[in-house]
Amino acid sequence: MSRFFSNKHAALVPYTPGEQPQDKEYIKLNTNESPFPPSAGVYDAVSRAAESVNLYSDPECKKLRAKMAEVFGLSDENIVMVNGSDEILNFAFMAFADENAPLAFPDITYGFYPVFARLNHIPYAEIPVKDDFTVDVNDYLGIHHTVVLANPNAPTGICLSLAEIEAIVRSNPDNVVIVDEAYVDFGGESAIGLIAKYDNLLVCGTFSKSRSMAGVRLGFGFGSKALIADINTIRYSTNPYNINSLTAAAGIAALEDNGYYMENCEVIIENREWTVAALRGLGFEVLPSKTNFVFAQSGKIDGLTLYRKLKERGILVRHFTLPRIADFNRITVGTIEQMQCLITTIKELTE
Ligand code: PMP
Repeated sequence: MSRFFSNKHAALVPYTPGEQPQDKEYIKLNTNESPFPPSAGVYDAVSRAAESVNLYSDPECKKLRAKMAEVFGLSDENIVMVNGSDEILNFAFMAFADENAPLAFPDITYGFYPVFARLNHIPYAEIPVKDDFTVDVNDYLGIHHTVVLANPNAPTGICLSLAEIEAIVRSNPDNVVIVDEAYVDFGGESAIGLIAKYDNLLVCGTFSKSRSMAGVRLGFGFGSKALIADINTIRYSTNPYNINSLTAAAGIAALEDNGYYMENCEVIIENREWTVAALRGLGFEVLPSKTNFVFAQSGKIDGLTLYRKLKERGILVRHFTLPRIADFNRITVGTIEQMQCLITTIKELTE
């Protein structure tokens, strides 16, 4: 830390992104990316958009939001586009949480929530998930906090039902409930349909997982017109050009090929079920996943050792040091060939 670093951030512990190693080719199952390339239309759209990068991008993202409205069945005034869904989490915390509306989220969830909370000096309650790693809905009913729930949750992969989400939203009418649906396309139930009914619901999503564009950095938020206007107040006070023109073009093209991505999700779901069965066959405990990853622990080898040994053999998975989950690894679901290789390697390591 330099002597100039502001005291207000002195205690900040930044988020640790998953490894993106450049040293050799790995079977990369550590950051929940899609193993499939973007659709052909994305390549063409990006190269066409490259011709006008001398101009600023459209801060309103008009064309992209119109396409989003069509695909998701909303009005464009219910939509804001962001530079990866991480950005909307930060914006939403800035907009809707403070000491009078502190944050509440599970103790086992996306690691960026406490980081954004601390960055913005917002107090937060970490509510323990149950022993089976499920979220207890009762903990969030009438909690009088700004609630943030990843649904499905990460890194557990476990999903709450739409009825459970609705109960939380309904019971907290004076607080915003942020539902982070980064993984919803792999078997969860989206809360988008509740937006017309509740003015306190913000749903966030991303093109990083189901739409094969983690490197493009494109996310979105859905909510009432007033909530979206508040997010825009923060966005225009931070970075109005948060969506560059190549990203916007890629997003529009991806939505035009939505069927391709949804078919890929079906393949990932099949590969996930195959992987879950194979891991259970090897004696692993695997949590019930509705995502493009599985969270699993071997009874024979601890999480960190398994992570290290897999890495030595060219397979990257994600290990978290948090004591409650240190025996687990989060394994992204890739192609069936990648998963077969993973299982063969784990078999060798655990026999
Ligand atoms: N929410 C959750 C639960 C995630 O796991 C991730 C990915 N790490 C994100 C949001 C952010 O994804 P992105 O910024 O790539 O949209």
